[in-house]
Amino acid sequence: MIPDIIHKKRSGWTTAPNIGDYESARAEFSWAGARAALSGLPGGRGINIAHEAVDRHAGSERAGHLALRWLGKGGARRDFTYLELRDLTNRFANVLQGLGLAPGARVFVLAGRIPELYVTVLGALKHRSVSCALFSAFGPEPIHTRLEMGGADVLVTTTTLYKRKVADIRARLPQLKHVLLIADEAGGGAVPGTLDFSNLLNAASTQFEIGPTAAEDHALLHFTSGTTGKPKGAVHVHGAVVAHHSTGSLALDLHAGDVFWCTADPGWVTGTSYGIVSPLTHGVASIVDEADFDAERWYSILREERVSVWYTAPTAVRMMMKGGAAAARRYEFPDLRFIASVGEPLNPQAVMWGVEAFGLPIHDNWWQTETGGIMIANTPAFDIKPGSMGRPLPGITACIVEHLEAEGEPPRVRVIDTPDVEGELALKAGWPSMFRGYLNNEARYRKCFAGDLYLTGDLARVDADGYYWFVGRSDDVIKSAGHLIGPFEVESVLMEHPAVAEAGVIGKPDPVVGEVVKAFVSLKDGHAPDEALRMDILAHARKRLGAAVAPKEIAFLPVLPRTRSGKIMRRLLKARELGLPEGDTSTLEGGA
Ligand code: AMP
Repeated sequence: MIPDIIHKKRSGWTTAPNIGDYESARAEFSWAGARAALSGLPGGRGINIAHEAVDRHAGSERAGHLALRWLGKGGARRDFTYLELRDLTNRFANVLQGLGLAPGARVFVLAGRIPELYVTVLGALKHRSVSCALFSAFGPEPIHTRLEMGGADVLVTTTTLYKRKVADIRARLPQLKHVLLIADEAGGGAVPGTLDFSNLLNAASTQFEIGPTAAEDHALLHFTSGTTGKPKGAVHVHGAVVAHHSTGSLALDLHAGDVFWCTADPGWVTGTSYGIVSPLTHGVASIVDEADFDAERWYSILREERVSVWYTAPTAVRMMMKGGAAAARRYEFPDLRFIASVGEPLNPQAVMWGVEAFGLPIHDNWWQTETGGIMIANTPAFDIKPGSMGRPLPGITACIVEHLEAEGEPPRVRVIDTPDVEGELALKAGWPSMFRGYLNNEARYRKCFAGDLYLTGDLARVDADGYYWFVGRSDDVIKSAGHLIGPFEVESVLMEHPAVAEAGVIGKPDPVVGEVVKAFVSLKDGHAPDEALRMDILAHARKRLGAAVAPKEIAFLPVLPRTRSGKIMRRLLKARELGLPEGDTSTLEGGA
């Protein structure tokens, strides 16, 4: 039985939660106050994410405290104190300077969760370059698109990933000035046209002074997918660290003594905001696991590393649920205090499974690449309604809106005051980690706003108690295992296959990963829709896109439904796939 409410824990906390009372925390909160919890650069020279995350602690009594504990795939482990992390990131900032790069350069990293990735991101922030981590499971095509769109000056990657995914696209990236390779066992020896990451790092000084950094200086770039066209590069600024820090406190309840584990990859926004920045600004020990999901491994990390706050994702929770709560109960987790999850709907069963397996409910929260940090959350300050994303954090004003504009007009919306009515989730603009633009796409950025409201693209409702409930997305973007996948990117690669005439891609509901990518293709004349061809198209998609993005299923259709203006009607493909009503088909080519 799933209860409607899980009452908040009222006693037994060894450390009092950061929010005691929700209403008074909201009333008392101000972003200026949140900013005051950070130090800023010495001498009033502004605010820099890496200073708040690393140097602030390295210059304090926390210098020798564990900052990152890296757990390697093969059992290796490496610890980095705040002081060590300061020296390594100073070295990398000096490497960038030594390469003649000026602040504002674009520094990309394509690597698994290895220490060098963390040193690169933080060192680039110190140098005041713009830092972008790419998901290492991407294939060459998504990598190329992002390096090109992002105007990458520098790419840090491993020898293996370079040879597999970058070498063939490098000629198509004329602006890419430097490739720094992290040597790995499988990668072999030196590669012409590249530099050695470790050699450069070792030769660089550990002394670096971060230059003046304005709160509005660009710091982080994250790509996110849309329904049409190329991915969008959301730009974030150094001042975002105020929100990274305060949300870590309010939504994740971070305290200085915590051992925190965020399971997300820095190639996705959660893995940067909460896998790198937020825990370090709190001076906590942050666990980084290089390996992919494995339930037994995860239970043992939670226990052995004495994780006290754990931030994970619904797909992972559901994969653990498959093994049953008894698997978790074989372990004990005396240190685990708070569990949170993000990225996709957390079903009530998963919230309750937390109680069964760990004795703690899982606290769902909501945000997205554009918001830069957690916006709506189940905090320790109030009861959980399983299935709800929670309530807006202090400093955040959310509402549900309906659109009033006519087709083609700029957005115009009305706030829906009545509870429990579905509409688009909107947020009052102005929190520090809000994105400041989509790279080279001002028009698309503007379309995200109606007056002072940021329109999230998600459909939701709010109940009479102020709890938000996710309904769905208002676009065709697919969420698979917590990763946002743009159908257009997949369709474009499918269309490159010599047999494919047209392609339409949808998210097909899946009980574990939320949605799987399913493609519908029609074939050019002279090609038979047989199993061999299906496998060939699948293999082509996997090679070009990477397994995380490629379709899991391909179905052949004689023709795909299109609107009269020629757009593939993904909505109709989805309705037909799911046996749902086809809705309005008046714009269907040849339709009613
Ligand atoms: P991303 O920008 O990749 O982080 O994806 C953001 C999108 O993930 C949101 O716009 C939602 O569609 C979805 N999402 C994030 N958190 C939740 C949640 N707690 N419940 C439901 N959907 C979520």
